[in-house]
Amino acid sequence: MLDIVPIPALTGTYDNYIWILHDDKNAIVVDPGDAMPVLAYLQLHQLKLSGILVTHRHNDHIGGLPKLLEVYNTQVYGPQSELIPLITHHVGGGDIVEFNELGLSFDILNVPGHLPEHIAYVGNGMLFCGDILFGCGCGKMFVGTPQEFHHSLQRLAALPAETRVYCAHEYTESNIRFALLCEPGNFQLQERKRDVQALRQQDKPTVPSTIALEKATNPFMRCAEPEIIANVTRHFNLPPSAPKDEVAIFAALRTWRDRC
Ligand SMILES: [Zn+2]
Repeated sequence: MLDIVPIPALTGTYDNYIWILHDDKNAIVVDPGDAMPVLAYLQLHQLKLSGILVTHRHNDHIGGLPKLLEVYNTQVYGPQSELIPLITHHVGGGDIVEFNELGLSFDILNVPGHLPEHIAYVGNGMLFCGDILFGCGCGKMFVGTPQEFHHSLQRLAALPAETRVYCAHEYTESNIRFALLCEPGNFQLQERKRDVQALRQQDKPTVPSTIALEKATNPFMRCAEPEIIANVTRHFNLPPSAPKDEVAIFAALRTWRDRC
């Protein structure tokens, strides 16, 4: 049976989760920002490392690669970027990565917005989305445009509703505080706040979520909602003539969030 385990890493600075998928024999590691907790887990459970999946080049997602590759001779899948020298298999939209020993197969999606070469892995009812989508939020727009970021999130929103969303950071509680500024009347969002607070009080992860839950509560996936448009308009004091299409609202939300 497949187990999907979040390994907390870089706690207090980035609050990363490194995801380990394993069946008690073989394992896949996603976005190893730090090697030590991964090595400890693999060695404790005597797992063979079948491969590493990388979503993008930020150090809190790849910082553990050198040390892991000193110990394990394994394949590293990642985006078409010369900026990640340890990738052995460059993949992009439309490619498929298969792990026969685990019975897993992932489609690659190009999801620019946080960085141009950011990719996501989707398959077997799971989405590993790095920093493009968070619980009730999304990543910063470091190198990208609101158009492509919004388009990437729309592509993820089109995945089956029950798809589990394995993002790379524990930011949900703070994201919900912002989401409630944008859409205080969203009943499901209020409910999610209570659920997330209860989980965090027990020091439990708030992820994975689902595409359905993100579509219902994540403001960055709800740019056409009248309450969100009204609150963005009020917050920025936009004139009636200002564009209020989904991309414009996304851009405004991203700016508002950056200032919170
Ligand atoms: Zn990042």
